Amino acid sequence: MALTGLEIYKQLPKKNCGECGPPTCLAFAMSLASGKATLDSCPYVSAAARETLDSASAPPIRLIKIGTGDQEVELGDEHVMFRHDKTFYHPTAFAFLVDDNATDLPEQIRAINGLEFNRVGLNYTVEAIAVNCVSGDAAVFKTAVETVAANSPLALVLISEDPAVIAEALPVVKDRKPLINAATTGNYEQMVALAKANEAALVVKAEGLNALAELVEKVVGLGFKEILLDPGYRNTSQVLAGLTEIRRLAIKKKFRPFGYPVITFTTETGALDEVVQAGVYLSKYASMVVIQTHQKEHILPLLSWRQNLYTDPQKPITVEAKIHAVGEVNDQTPVYITTNFSLSYYSVEGEVEASKIPGYIIPVDTEGTSVLTAWAAGKFEPEKIAAVLETSGIKDLVGHREVIIPGYVAVISGKLEDKSGWKVIVGPREASGIPAFAKSRFA
Ligand code: SF4
Repeated sequence: MALTGLEIYKQLPKKNCGECGPPTCLAFAMSLASGKATLDSCPYVSAAARETLDSASAPPIRLIKIGTGDQEVELGDEHVMFRHDKTFYHPTAFAFLVDDNATDLPEQIRAINGLEFNRVGLNYTVEAIAVNCVSGDAAVFKTAVETVAANSPLALVLISEDPAVIAEALPVVKDRKPLINAATTGNYEQMVALAKANEAALVVKAEGLNALAELVEKVVGLGFKEILLDPGYRNTSQVLAGLTEIRRLAIKKKFRPFGYPVITFTTETGALDEVVQAGVYLSKYASMVVIQTHQKEHILPLLSWRQNLYTDPQKPITVEAKIHAVGEVNDQTPVYITTNFSLSYYSVEGEVEASKIPGYIIPVDTEGTSVLTAWAAGKFEPEKIAAVLETSGIKDLVGHREVIIPGYVAVISGKLEDKSGWKVIVGPREASGIPAFAKSRFA
C-alpha cells in the first residue's frame, strides 16, 4: 500500500537543502506521495530508507520492456485512470497470433511485417508476433519461433504453459528479450526460473483477481518483477470489468500486486467482432492485445484509435505553418488556406492530391485547432490570414491573387478580401468536396 506524505517524510534526511527541487524535505515528501517526483532527486537518502520508500516513489504501474533495439516495446508506467487527467504514456502493443504448426507461417509473418501505415503524417506500426504452441510439441514450437525470429524484427511472445516447451525455444531467442506467456499456479516456479535465466518478461495468469494477486505475490517473492498480468477472463465484459478494477486498484490504492501492465487475448472469431473486442481492450486498459486477424483493413482503425487515445490531450498534433506544395505547381496554381491541426491539413492535402490538380496549401497557425474551433476561438481571423498571405512568400510563388478558404468560414470572406486585397473563393465545407470543386474551377 502507498505511504502517506508524513510517513515518507520520516524516512528523508531532513537537511532541507532543496537540491531535489522543492525547498524542504516535507515538500519533497508530499510530491513523492502524489507521484509528482521520484526518489532519485534526493542524493542523500540512505539505502535503508530507499528500500522502504521504493513503494512510494515507484510508478503505480511498473514499466516493462520487451524486444530490443528499434523494436523495443515499453508497456505500463501509466499514472492516471483517464486520459484527460494527464495523458497516457505507453500505447497498447498489438501482438499477432500465429500457430506453431501453421503451414503458411512465412506468408503470415510477411503479412504481419507489412502492417505499416502512414496517416495524417504519422507512421503507424505494430509491435509483436505471438507464437502459440498448438502442436504441443517442443521441437515444432522451437522451429516456429526460430522461423518467426529469422523473418521478423518484431518483438516475440512465446505462448505455452508447459515449461519444457518454453525451455526448448527460449534460449534461441533470448537476445530478443521475448515475453513468456504464461506462469500459472501449477508452473510458476519453473517459469520464473526460465524467465530469470533468460532475462525475459513473464505473464502471470490466474483465474480471477484474488487468485491473480496471490500468484503475483508468490512470483515477486521469488525476486522477479518483470511481470504482465492476465486475470484469465476471456469474455469481453468480464475482461473490461477486470481490467478496470486492476487499473483502479493500481492507480488509486497503489495496490502493488496489480502494479503491472496487463495482457489480453481476443476470442471473437469474426474479424469485425474481433476488432471491436480489441478496441474495447485497447480503450480500457490493456497494455498488450494478442489478436488474430492481420488484415490491413481491420488493423488500421485500431491503430488510428490508439493514436487518438495516446495523444497528449494538452498538445494537439500540428503541421508546420508554412507553404506546402502538392503536385507540379506553377505560378497559376490554386492556393488553399486551412489550419495547422494535422487532421485538417492532411484531409485537405489528401483531397487536393486526389483532385489531380496541383495546389499550394497554407496551414495557418491556429495552435492545432480545426477550422470551426479556431474561428470560434478567434484564431482564424481575416487579419491573421491576411498577414499569412502577405508574409508567407506565396505572393512570390503565384502570379494570381486568389485564395480558397474553407466553406465553414464563408462568413469571413468579405473582410478577408478587404484586409488582404486577394480575391476570396469560398471552397467546400468538407475536404472531401475539394476534387469536384477543383475540377469545376481549375481543370
Ligand atoms: Fe531533503 Fe533530500 Fe530534498 Fe535535500 S534533497 S531537501 S535532503 S529531500
